Amino acid sequence: MRRKLAAGNWKMNGCKADLAQIKALCAAHETATVDLLICPPTTLIGAAAEICADHALQIGGQDCHAQASGAHTGDISAQMLADVGARAVIVGHSERRSDHAETSDDVRAKASAAHDAGLQAIVCIGEHLAEREADRTLNVIGAQLADSVPGDASAENTVIAYEPCWAIGTGLTATPDQISEVHDFIRDRLVGRFGPEIGQAIRLLYGGSVKPGNASQIFAVQNVDGALVGGASLTSRDFSPIISALEGAVEVS
Ligand code: PEP
Repeated sequence: MRRKLAAGNWKMNGCKADLAQIKALCAAHETATVDLLICPPTTLIGAAAEICADHALQIGGQDCHAQASGAHTGDISAQMLADVGARAVIVGHSERRSDHAETSDDVRAKASAAHDAGLQAIVCIGEHLAEREADRTLNVIGAQLADSVPGDASAENTVIAYEPCWAIGTGLTATPDQISEVHDFIRDRLVGRFGPEIGQAIRLLYGGSVKPGNASQIFAVQNVDGALVGGASLTSRDFSPIISALEGAVEVS
C-alpha cells in the first residue's frame, strides 16, 4: 500500500509574509492521513522547516546542483538544502529542463546528489504537446524515466512526478484516461527495471493544473499516488481542499 503524497511547488513565488500559508496548512491538517510537502523558494526553506518542526508537513527544495559543494555561483547543493531542514527536492521540473536546458542525464546526477544528501528526489518527467500530438508520449516518457532515475532508486528516496508540459500552469489538465495510460506505463517500466517490490512501491504523482475542482477525479485514477501542485499550492485556501480530496480518494480505474 503506497502512502499518498500531496506536494506543492511554489516556484519563484513567496516572501516571508507567505509563511503564514504554511502555518495555516499545519493548523488545518494537524492529523493528515497523507504525506504533505511544500517546496517554497530556497530563501524560505529554513524558516518554513522551523514552522513545521513538530508537524508532519515536510519542506523541500525546487532544484539542487549535482555537486555537494564547489565553484558554482548562485547554485544550491542538496546537502545545503538538507542542512536547513529540507527533506526532499524536486529535480527535472519541465521549467528547469526548458529554462536551463537540463537534460535527463543532468536530472539523474541531481537525483543522485539528493540521495547522497539524504533527500527524497521528486523526479519530474513529461511530454510536450507536439510530442503528444505526434503520438510519441510513451517514447518520451520511457526515455526520460530511464535516463532521469538513478539505479539506486527506492520508495524511500524517489518519487516520480508525471507532468505533461502542456498542462503545467495552463489550466489544461490531462484526462483521466491520458493520466491512466502514462501512469500504468511508468509503473510497468519501474517494475521491469527495479523488480516488483521497489517498482510497485515508488510513488507516482500527477502534476498539471491540479485544482480543488478537478482533484478528486484525478485521484480516482489507479496508480496516481498524489499530486505535484503549482499554482494551487500557493494558498492554504486552495491547497487544503486538494489535500482533503487526496485523503478521501478511492481509486476506481
Ligand atoms: C508544477 O509546477 O509542477 C505544476 C504542476 O504547476 P500547476 O499546478 O500550476 O500547473
